[in-house]
Amino acid sequence: MENTVTSRPQTVFAATVVALLLGAVTNFVMAILVGLFQKYSHISVVGFTFFFVFPVGAFLCGLIGGIGYRFGARILPYRPSSILLVFSLLISLLSYLCVFFVSYKLTLFRGEPLSTVVSFPDYVLLSLRNTRTYIQTFEIGRAGSAGYLFGLIDLAGYLLGGIAACAAAFPSEYCKKCHRVWNRYFLSAGYTVALSPLEKVFHDAEVEILAERYDQPVSIIAGAGSKARWTAYQLKYELLNCSNCEYSRYQLSLSRIKPPPEKLLRRKVSKDTQPVNR
Ligand SMILES: [Zn+2]
Repeated sequence: MENTVTSRPQTVFAATVVALLLGAVTNFVMAILVGLFQKYSHISVVGFTFFFVFPVGAFLCGLIGGIGYRFGARILPYRPSSILLVFSLLISLLSYLCVFFVSYKLTLFRGEPLSTVVSFPDYVLLSLRNTRTYIQTFEIGRAGSAGYLFGLIDLAGYLLGGIAACAAAFPSEYCKKCHRVWNRYFLSAGYTVALSPLEKVFHDAEVEILAERYDQPVSIIAGAGSKARWTAYQLKYELLNCSNCEYSRYQLSLSRIKPPPEKLLRRKVSKDTQPVNR
């Protein structure tokens, strides 16, 4: 079948929009749940800090709320544009306000909805001033104007959590030319208990790859101690391929697989091949 080369801007735009939408959905679902919990339990999840300065609760809420970016970025096989990070800040800001908005809409004042008495911006400022501050578990009173500062700290934590979740959602290995995520094909792997024998195999395979004899490393690596599988060191040979422009890359990676798997990446070599002319 003839491979239609889709133009890059449209596909990257689509991937960015899908990731943004899913990120926004989880952000607002999270904000509504947190808002409801805070309203009925009177426990401020977003306002939970260590020593007044480390907004742990807000950071975690932002981070968990941003889980949708990761799912969204996996739907289309293209890497979203970096502009997604900027939009994620806006989404985080709106969902942070949404936490307040939930209680604003559910609070009654003398039997009337509070929203008929106070405007939303005034309500936010009022609730920040009325935040109760605690040292350990001892309440030391209402925050007053210091509440604005606490609010800003919480907001910073929330934005940081959101942008961290968004940054982690980007696929790390993709074709730089058309932003398409690589297809990954496993070619062979070798395992040894000690590092040095595998380093020698790594070097031999590297020489073959650099000389563009791409088939040679398959058997060289496969002969390197498959009995020691999942014990200590792994040498993996893979082919990464872009199905959009047919650009491919041979990649050799030597890593420690125990404990935990692939924690320590020792060395890596990769070589791109020319695109296939069609
Ligand atoms: Zn490509």
